[in-house]
Amino acid sequence: MNIHEYQAKEVLHKFNVPVPRGFVATSVKEAEIKIGQLKSDVLVVKAQIHAGGRGKAGGVKLAKSTEEAQQFVKDMLGMILVTHQTGPNGQQVRRVYIEEGFSVKKEYYLSIVIDPKLSNPTFIFSSEGGMNIEEVAKNSPTKLVKLDINYSTGFASFDSKKLSNSFYLSPKQIEKITDVAKNIYNAFIATDASQIEINPLVETSSGDFIALDAKINFDDNALYRHPEIMEFRDYDEEVKEEVEASKYGLNYIKMDGNIGCMVNGAGLAMATMDIIKYYGAEPANFLDVGGGANKETITEAFKIILSDGNVKGILVNIFGGIMRCDIVASGIIEAAKGISIKVPLVVRLLGTNFEKGKRILEESGLNIITADELDEAAQKIVKEME
Ligand code: GDP
Ligand code: MN
Repeated sequence: MNIHEYQAKEVLHKFNVPVPRGFVATSVKEAEIKIGQLKSDVLVVKAQIHAGGRGKAGGVKLAKSTEEAQQFVKDMLGMILVTHQTGPNGQQVRRVYIEEGFSVKKEYYLSIVIDPKLSNPTFIFSSEGGMNIEEVAKNSPTKLVKLDINYSTGFASFDSKKLSNSFYLSPKQIEKITDVAKNIYNAFIATDASQIEINPLVETSSGDFIALDAKINFDDNALYRHPEIMEFRDYDEEVKEEVEASKYGLNYIKMDGNIGCMVNGAGLAMATMDIIKYYGAEPANFLDVGGGANKETITEAFKIILSDGNVKGILVNIFGGIMRCDIVASGIIEAAKGISIKVPLVVRLLGTNFEKGKRILEESGLNIITADELDEAAQKIVKEME
């Protein structure tokens, strides 16, 4: 699960990571009432969306007066912000964060993630933090250093010598960075985070280190242990159809193509998407209906697929193992009768009772194209698109 910057800063503040003082607002009025709390010559107004790259896209503004800050709040609330992480449709700004500005001496980068190869947490530090970190990582990899953490010894294994060897940092600076890293580590472990990224971690003109931006991702499988973090979930930032699908135990991910897919099993779903692409078309989604699909889940799955206006055809590819194909076929017919499916529908069933399933589909009188092989099914639906 992903959370907003202001929520991440609230979490980090609890673990003594220095963050600027600020407040969140969902309306101009609210900002007007609260803005007096902040005592600073410079105020920063920041769009709160679940995507980075806001600075370059106009989602982070520095104001020299409260009036100017108010104007930025007015401009930003409700706007569609398009960053390199939002996709071309962008994301609507529903909340803004207003915080005290700092005069920045230098921007650093500090993050902690799980290294999947080593199965341990690892820090990534760079002396070249800020909005161009992706280019730094690509073009000047020596400006980044990785500091692995040993699970059994914990933060004691943080090798700050690596920082002095790789960057021109004084012992005092290293001490301060290590201190911030330690608090970030504690937050990472205690909250079951999968990633904490501070970009930029800045050195202020008075020599302090402070997290100007913060991003945290959590391990979904551990969320049940953190009801206070679950409260942070913002459904507005998630794809509507994906949220709806999760309510029915369906694993749905929206994509950009026009062939809707309904499949059971993640591997088969991937293979189905691959073969659609192989025959020159694009899948509209990934959809795994799971092992126990019934009439209700199949109906929901059709509804979700059809709610995507790009869908011009549907390919159903079900392997009946635990689920019998005749039951699936009846479910498809029931669902198709309940909601009108106006796009071509190709169904391929294989496994237990597949002949019976196929017969049920063919005798239904509905406009359902059947197929025996996946290859054949993919070719049939792609042909319907022409
Ligand atoms: P992102 O682009 O979505 O990662 O948003 P950030 O929160 O990282 O903000 C983008 C940039 O705005 C930062 O890299 C800083 O250069 C700048 N910035 C943000 N807050 C302040 C501030 O308080 N003072 C100054 N001088 N710059 C800031
Ligand atoms: Mn940032």
